[in-house]
Amino acid sequence: MEGHKGKLIIFLRSLRFKLCLGISVIGIAYIGLSNYMSYNKTKAEAQAFIDEELMQIANVIINYNVILPKNWDRPRMRRHIITDFEGHILHQFMPRNSHMNSLFMEVPSINDLFDKHQEIIIAPIFSGPGQTVYFPPNIDDGLYTVLINDKRVRAYVATNKQQIRFVVARPYELLDALVNQALQHSIGSFTLLIFIYIPCIIFIVGLIFMPVKRLASELYRRKNNDLSPITAHTLPSELDVFIEAINNLLLKTERTMQRERRFIADAAHEMRTPLTAISLQAQSLDENLLSKTEAEKLVQLKQAIKRQRDLTNNLLEYARCQSRPVLHMEPLSIKDLFIEVIEDLGSIADEKDIDFGIEGECDYKVVSDRAGLKTVIRNLVSNALKYTPQGGRCDLRCILQKKRLEIIVDDSGPGILEQEKENVFNVFYRVGGDSARFEGTGLGLPIVRSTCEQLGASITLINREEGGLRACVSLPY
Ligand code: ATP
Ligand code: MG
Repeated sequence: MEGHKGKLIIFLRSLRFKLCLGISVIGIAYIGLSNYMSYNKTKAEAQAFIDEELMQIANVIINYNVILPKNWDRPRMRRHIITDFEGHILHQFMPRNSHMNSLFMEVPSINDLFDKHQEIIIAPIFSGPGQTVYFPPNIDDGLYTVLINDKRVRAYVATNKQQIRFVVARPYELLDALVNQALQHSIGSFTLLIFIYIPCIIFIVGLIFMPVKRLASELYRRKNNDLSPITAHTLPSELDVFIEAINNLLLKTERTMQRERRFIADAAHEMRTPLTAISLQAQSLDENLLSKTEAEKLVQLKQAIKRQRDLTNNLLEYARCQSRPVLHMEPLSIKDLFIEVIEDLGSIADEKDIDFGIEGECDYKVVSDRAGLKTVIRNLVSNALKYTPQGGRCDLRCILQKKRLEIIVDDSGPGILEQEKENVFNVFYRVGGDSARFEGTGLGLPIVRSTCEQLGASITLINREEGGLRACVSLPY
């Protein structure tokens, strides 16, 4: 839950979200406004069309002298309420007269618009006593919007050449239908645009930020000691200043680290000379001429000198592999390297009666740095022999896997606890009681990992089912 909340907060803080939100809000407002304007335009055009139509009909009636009835049917309704749309209420009460005395065809009344579902009605305006009047007799010629039985009607009042006043009217239903259609169309296209627009914005903003994401994952995947400057030609230029600052920082860190590495290397180197002198002095002492206690102390002194020499050598080695040494890539025979290591460390195996040798076919050639690859194999074999108990076994093998060659060092020692597998690659880290039981500096595996990185190889430690540890170095082949 906390994780989700954290992710949400990060998302809300992100520039990506803010950009998407900003562009979406502006876009939606723009689309909404333009739809509203086109809706209003349609409404006004429909109104103008109806008005034009009513006026045209009135003009035809006037110009072609269409005969308008002079008598009006008795009203069929007792009371009409006509309300001027602008708010001037015009009540017109009908006479309570029910008998029909017309000899003529029924003259349409304006109510026929609804009663008989007429689209357009042309009706005279009468104002004499007992006659139906729908508009005040003194009303000016022109366009009116009136309410008849709660329905809106657009009417054009005109006067013909015989001074008969008449009205051409039509309900607003058509206009309303047109306007509703325009409104529905507007809402439909608005919704559709939103559904297309927002995902497009999210996609485009995502595309813009893709190089930033790519750079971040590139930096995550970088090797520990890779402090080379970032090249960011594909990044938005706004980030140039940040990239410059980061590169500046990387450069400073690189320089500081170089100074520290040089210091370690120099210190180790400086320690070597007096160590050699002490070692020579200790060697020159003849144990047979010393008393028993003095001889014991000499043994301890020699052990301490050896430890110190190992530490100094490892420190030098570690500083060397950390400072990105120049690699001499050349074709190497793995078998030859194995034989060299066996010759170097065979005596340890003999001391502990360990069955130590090459297993299977190892006649492979790889292009790599001789010194680097030998350091890797040597350290792994040294560990295998150190941690394998008396009478154990240590095998060196090679397996070709697609485009990679795996160099394998198997032992029959105690293996490494799963939770310690990553820690053992930390400088000076030694597992639990091993520091007391075995001599060592805790620099061997860190040197192995750094060197592997230099060589484009990877190192994995696996606890074997049959017991013991398998150290596997995978090299490009
Ligand atoms: P040195 O610097 O002399 O190599 P070291 O062997 O103690 O000292 P690493 O080689 O870095 O240091 O190994 C780190 C730790 O990993 C060791 O202390 C040991 O506990 C464990 N380890 C390494 N290899 C093996 C192995 N083959 N079997 C069991 N434990 C191992
Ligand atoms: Mg070691």
